[in-house]
Amino acid sequence: MNCLEERILRDGVVKEGNVLKVDSFLNHQMDVELFNEMGKEFKRRFEGKDINKILTIEASGIGIACIVAQHFGVPVVFAKKTQSINLDGEMLVAEVESFTHKNKNNVIVAKKFLSEDDHVLLIDDFLANGCALQGLIQIVQSAGATVEGIGIAIEKGFQSGGRMIRNLGFQLESLAIVEDMNWETGEIKFREQD
Ligand code: 5GP
Repeated sequence: MNCLEERILRDGVVKEGNVLKVDSFLNHQMDVELFNEMGKEFKRRFEGKDINKILTIEASGIGIACIVAQHFGVPVVFAKKTQSINLDGEMLVAEVESFTHKNKNNVIVAKKFLSEDDHVLLIDDFLANGCALQGLIQIVQSAGATVEGIGIAIEKGFQSGGRMIRNLGFQLESLAIVEDMNWETGEIKFREQD
């Protein structure tokens, strides 16, 4: 069992509606030491890949992506969920349905930060149905850039996103894959990984 799985068992809370709450260490309060261990592990799993940029999505992906980026020595770009006056020039836009908020958002990246020369590692905190990742993949591809791999902290293996993304041929590495969780007993089971 890796340190993220141990931490999920210790501090994660299973909520009704297939939601795993990890806000005490991953996506509200953030344990930077844990993120650092996750960064080391992503570096090991994507060894040999030619990665020059990390792309994530606001807000929860940003903290993890920044620490991971230190292990790759590359910049981080995050997709924005709202248009603002600070977003200028040409933009890459994809529509994403939110698992947690049940609404649709455009995700936006300024064109100047992604080009056909970029080899991108996508990073996010959760993978559920895969909508967020599909949006990021669409943005990378519309820039003519290449998705070299996808690193996820927690994949909910009982939802469809992981299978769909792997079937598309991407190298998807999830540090913890929850196979099953029960909000009544609080029990969480992980998929065995090498
Ligand atoms: P997807 O687009 O794969 O359906 O969902 C991914 C996004 O939904 C993640 O970026 C994450 O913010 C959120 N999410 C999905 N499932 C969970 C969950 O069980 N717990 C939390 N905290 N966030 C989740």
